[in-house]
Amino acid sequence: MACSEINIFDLELDELKNEVTALGEPGYRAKQVWQWIYQGVASFDEMTNLPKTFRDKLKARFYIGGVSVASKLVSEKDGTRKYLFALNDGKVIESNSVCLSTQVGCRMGCSFCASSKLGIDRNLSIGEMVAQVIEIQKDTAEKVSHIVLMGIGEPFDNYDNVVRFLRRMNSPDTLNISYRRMTVSTCGLVPEILRFAEEEFPVNLSVSLHAPNDEIRKTIMPVARKYSIDKILAACHIYTQKTGRRITFEYTLIRNVNDRTEHAKELGKRLAGLLCHVNLIPVNIVEGTGYSKSDKEKVENFKKIIEEYGLPVTVRRELGSDIAASCGQLRKRLVESDGMVDKR
Ligand code: SAH
Repeated sequence: MACSEINIFDLELDELKNEVTALGEPGYRAKQVWQWIYQGVASFDEMTNLPKTFRDKLKARFYIGGVSVASKLVSEKDGTRKYLFALNDGKVIESNSVCLSTQVGCRMGCSFCASSKLGIDRNLSIGEMVAQVIEIQKDTAEKVSHIVLMGIGEPFDNYDNVVRFLRRMNSPDTLNISYRRMTVSTCGLVPEILRFAEEEFPVNLSVSLHAPNDEIRKTIMPVARKYSIDKILAACHIYTQKTGRRITFEYTLIRNVNDRTEHAKELGKRLAGLLCHVNLIPVNIVEGTGYSKSDKEKVENFKKIIEEYGLPVTVRRELGSDIAASCGQLRKRLVESDGMVDKR
């Protein structure tokens, strides 16, 4: 894409000001550049209120975004859009119109997840996260109104960039998206949940629980060996107290693994009284995992029992099932078919 070194979206506004002054231009030009990039211009030449000499200096030093749409799929069933983004170093990530990636791959190792199968490559920079939003905005010709970090990667494994990214998207100088319209999904990294609670912003927290007890959780999520459900729930309690936001617990239903009546009762008992919502997700089948979906009746039965404990519960609609819109499925398919991704 470019031989210039810096992704301009990686910079904060005052950092850009310093850069602009170092290039011998007045500081106020930084704000002009800032406005252009968040409007989604593709090149510095489109910044028509800047002198040509300054645009050339910018070109030599920066590139804009560092992600480009490598391919796009639109679901015929429900209009869900799925993007494969190519990064500057040739890696690819996958996002849909609401759901963004935070890492190239993931190292959490959940046994049912397509992203885990390929391991972790690297973190995304803040600029690469911003650029996903800007690209999606350009492609849909609509302002992005929600940010959901539920694509590839564990957001809290890239904590600093993620928090800076959320602040940036909230800024009135960029997209001005309210924190209440942002969701971060984690597999349950306790220290980061506690740290996040201290950030003083009311972002929605989604916790991937997927099991009613540590024994079952350990068989599907390696992270369960590090943090017990008790510790996670204690951290969630603090999060709700600090932010006033309720937690969403994600629970992927896998046939004969975690979908029995006794599992639902155990889960209901543990969550009762917590400011939360339970989201049941029929597992998306990832080849090679050996898992299968729970029957419809099992799902309904599970839901009914959770409701009996006074907990709000929904069953997640499966969006874009015809375009492999679930976490990492598209990227996995691509990597395995033509090795577009460096698999080191
Ligand atoms: N690492 C974060 C966010 C990425 S995954 C997390 O663990 O929350 C987003 C959600 O999709 C998580 O709840 C994850 O457990 C779930 N998920 C992953 N693979 C899935 C599959 N095959 N079927 C259903 N849900 C899946």
